[in-house]
Amino acid sequence: MTTVAIIVAAGRGSRAGGPLPKQWQLLQGRPIVAHTLDAFAGMRRLLVIHPDDRALAEPLGAEVVVGAASRAGSVLNALRALEDQGVTRVLIHDGARPLVSPAVIARVIAALDRSDGAAPALAVTDALWRGEGHVTGTEDRTGLWRAQTPQGFRFDAILAAHLAHGGDAADDVAVARAAGLDVAIVEGDDDNIKVTWPADFARAEAMLKGRDMDIRMGNGYDVHRFGPGDHVWLCGVKVPHGRGLQGHSDADVGMHALTDAIYGALAEGDIGQHFPPSDMKWKGAESHIFLRHAMGRVLARGYRLSNCDVTLVCEYPKVGPHAVAMRQALAVIMGVDAGIVSVKATTSEKLGFTGREEGIASIATALLVSA
Ligand code: MG
Repeated sequence: MTTVAIIVAAGRGSRAGGPLPKQWQLLQGRPIVAHTLDAFAGMRRLLVIHPDDRALAEPLGAEVVVGAASRAGSVLNALRALEDQGVTRVLIHDGARPLVSPAVIARVIAALDRSDGAAPALAVTDALWRGEGHVTGTEDRTGLWRAQTPQGFRFDAILAAHLAHGGDAADDVAVARAAGLDVAIVEGDDDNIKVTWPADFARAEAMLKGRDMDIRMGNGYDVHRFGPGDHVWLCGVKVPHGRGLQGHSDADVGMHALTDAIYGALAEGDIGQHFPPSDMKWKGAESHIFLRHAMGRVLARGYRLSNCDVTLVCEYPKVGPHAVAMRQALAVIMGVDAGIVSVKATTSEKLGFTGREEGIASIATALLVSA
């Protein structure tokens, strides 16, 4: 069973504006048709182009066939190029639909087990009017569908249909139906838009960006020992306590864990690497310097903090009454909304060094997404 995707990109459509036919205009720095080819990665793909577009097509490294004056003629050229090669099915797809999902493609292919043809569509849900400037009538939308591609067919059947058809057609389903083929409707996808108007570019760009979103996560862990003192700094808040935490800096164990989580997400080492304890410059340093530096790296690398979560492990002091203030303090330092900052605490049931109140431990997780 050999399935070939025929990507039809021979049109001259310029409703989208711009100097090039729409399928060659750029989305995220690459021609639309390059994204469309990507959507069919993993299967043989045949790109149908206008003869003037050879130079545009060459960098894509795709298998190419030259189209004809009409869309139907272009598809026929592609089908003929695939004759006698053991191809059993073809998926015929608009070059200007770069956002087709694997699920839609899979549904079309699956339906070809039961039918000569299959194509995705969406039921019309808006009311339909007739008129020009003023409404002169309404149309019943029952049983009406908005057609999409890829339109899939058994190869021999669609080749015979195109050979018999002659002339142009709205799409390959029209050609297939004229030849008496049965075409099943499968569920389409609202995102499977045909990039046609200038506004479509912004929408397609936004969807591609969402798809390519880079997500990075990191964790951090820190411990500081109790010593003499009358307060501890925890997550940017000064909390009265019978002892203090010892450390090279202000020993804010929660902020250190969070800072390391952010460095970890970036794979940029840890606090000790950026602010060596051997350097007296950082002795007694306030920990917000570290956290601000880590967040500066996040922005410099083109990310933003999606959310973070800090857990303090101690018997005392009790963290609960200060948790809201801690979230706000961290949010201010990081320049983010407190809604994405979590601070919580647990005891260790009097077990281990935290249970014996020898020190406080903290673990933190940070999630970064491409900005
Ligand atoms: Mg530390």
